[in-house]
Amino acid sequence: MYPDQDFEQLSAERPTTSGRSPEQVLHEVFGYESFRPLQGEIIHEVASGGDALVLMPTGGGKSLCYQVPALVRSGTAIVISPLIALMQDQVAALRELGVRAAFLNSTMDFEQARATEYALSTGELDLLYCAPERLIQPRTLELLHDASISLFAIDEAHCVSQWGHDFRSDYLQLAVLANEFPSIPRVALTATADERTRKEIAERLSLTEARHFISGFDRPNIQYRIAPKTNANKQLLEFIKAEHEEHCGIVYCLSRNKVDATAKMLAQKGYTALPYHAGLPANDRAHHQERFLREDGVIIVATIAFGMGIDKPDVRFVAHLDLPKSLEAYYQETGRAGRDGNPSTAWMVYGLQDVIKLRQMLEASQGNDHFKRIERQKLDAMLGLCEVTKCRRQVLLNYFGDELETPCGNCDTCLNPPETWDGTVAVQKALSCVFRTGQRFGVTYLIDVLRGSENERVKQSGHHQVSTYGIGTELSVNEWKSVFRQLVANGYLRADPEGYGALQLTEQCRPLLKGEHKVELRKDPEVKKSVGRASGGRTGSAVKDQVTDHVGWEALRACRKELADKQGVPPYVIFHDTTLFDMLERKPQTLDDLAGVSGVGAAKLEKYGEIFLAAIAQLDQA
Ligand code: ADP
Ligand code: ZN
Repeated sequence: MYPDQDFEQLSAERPTTSGRSPEQVLHEVFGYESFRPLQGEIIHEVASGGDALVLMPTGGGKSLCYQVPALVRSGTAIVISPLIALMQDQVAALRELGVRAAFLNSTMDFEQARATEYALSTGELDLLYCAPERLIQPRTLELLHDASISLFAIDEAHCVSQWGHDFRSDYLQLAVLANEFPSIPRVALTATADERTRKEIAERLSLTEARHFISGFDRPNIQYRIAPKTNANKQLLEFIKAEHEEHCGIVYCLSRNKVDATAKMLAQKGYTALPYHAGLPANDRAHHQERFLREDGVIIVATIAFGMGIDKPDVRFVAHLDLPKSLEAYYQETGRAGRDGNPSTAWMVYGLQDVIKLRQMLEASQGNDHFKRIERQKLDAMLGLCEVTKCRRQVLLNYFGDELETPCGNCDTCLNPPETWDGTVAVQKALSCVFRTGQRFGVTYLIDVLRGSENERVKQSGHHQVSTYGIGTELSVNEWKSVFRQLVANGYLRADPEGYGALQLTEQCRPLLKGEHKVELRKDPEVKKSVGRASGGRTGSAVKDQVTDHVGWEALRACRKELADKQGVPPYVIFHDTTLFDMLERKPQTLDDLAGVSGVGAAKLEKYGEIFLAAIAQLDQA
């Protein structure tokens, strides 16, 4: 997948790295102007030999927290990472920056591994990425003892948590590092950890004395939107067409069949859409993932099997056609959008059937009562987010123990506040209709009865004679559907666990049935084309939407693509979109000017500077 790790070329390229300050490394190697919040503090802590536990949201800039100290301290930094694809990506990106990085994992043959080990022992590496199972082998530990190590970075540190969904037993054994290398600083990093998991990480990795750096969970550049499902395919197409034409994105579906059908549907409409799920041959999966990483404007349609280890910074949207089971899952999946900090959208449609299906799956699942109770709470929180009438981001962050004081202004409920209405009477009618018809019918039928349909089935059952027949003509079919959806979402009605979607009353609904409680319902928003383009974040709108000089933009992208293909790396490893955009804005004429562009460090300046200056000079002549 990546070019061979050629050490001679690397060591010839750049002399030793130590002796520089973190700020110097940031400017010279990475080409960035300043540290992000917390980054500076973490880097100073680790660079000066301290331990750290870092919690930062996806896209927050965790990698720099160990990469910079690795280049400030002398010796090799060992980075433990569970995901091979990600490891290879990071190493490729670092080598583009002229950093002496390599990896050790199961994809390499004996010769390659030996060459890498030799480079470690002779001090030719700044960073060595290593899979956990590899690291804990006695042979590797011995090697490390003989080498000069600057620090240990443990990425995805939540993998030590036995309660988390990414548990890896190899991670537990990383505790040996504290015992065997007590004087070498260790930094553990994660994006997903509540307080309990954080404690577990600290204990299991012997980091109880380490300084903790907790940055908020917020991803301000992601716009959260959740709409009632009317016609999912049509809604998805309209969304992509209006806001993300030619952008790259991920569409999540629950089942493999739906993944295939959705990918096909999008392809028929002219999009480059590729399916990804566990039922596809491994080759196809790898190929689709590769195209997603390397080409522009590819949409991946996937089950949740896709995403771990996807470090692509410019995913502009994540769309859910099915409801995730928990807010944890929702947050993790939507978090794959906008790692580069540019505006992105997390978009979802959901309907009554989704709610019913998830509730049924949960009740039918194998787990014990305790397990089911937890799962039920998680699903309730997810549904709560869907039906909320205030700022979605506030609800989301609050769930993770973070507080956002004022509404965010960048979610659908902020941008287009939903109205509420007094549903007390409607709810009474709906519940009583369920009761009068014997708790044996699904929502379509119940609405028929409420609206006094002449339907044969209603007559045959004799339900045209029950007291609730025809008492609900004041609401449309869709309005009734919304009432029932909210009743199920809020636990007043449940779907018959035996299936068939029959709705039954729960204990909770007693006071409602008697009209003792006033009930505020959410009015489903009119189906509008779109709420507006994603906004917020660092640049206001997606980079490519800000471009006015399209010819110039395409020329620079073509230049980048050619270099990327030549090196066998994804285009963003050469330069990010924001860097190209900056070039186009500033039109640098000299290498000095170009060095001032964000994301252009010394190595890239030397390697690509002239090529891009030539491309920019061409633009002015055209
Ligand atoms: P994480 O691992 O936390 O998800 P990354 O380390 O991949 O995030 O960083 C996300 C993006 O932000 C990367 O493209 C990275 O180059 C960029 N980035 C990180 N720190 C800075 C900084 N100080 N200035 C500019 N860009 C940065
Ligand atoms: Zn909001």
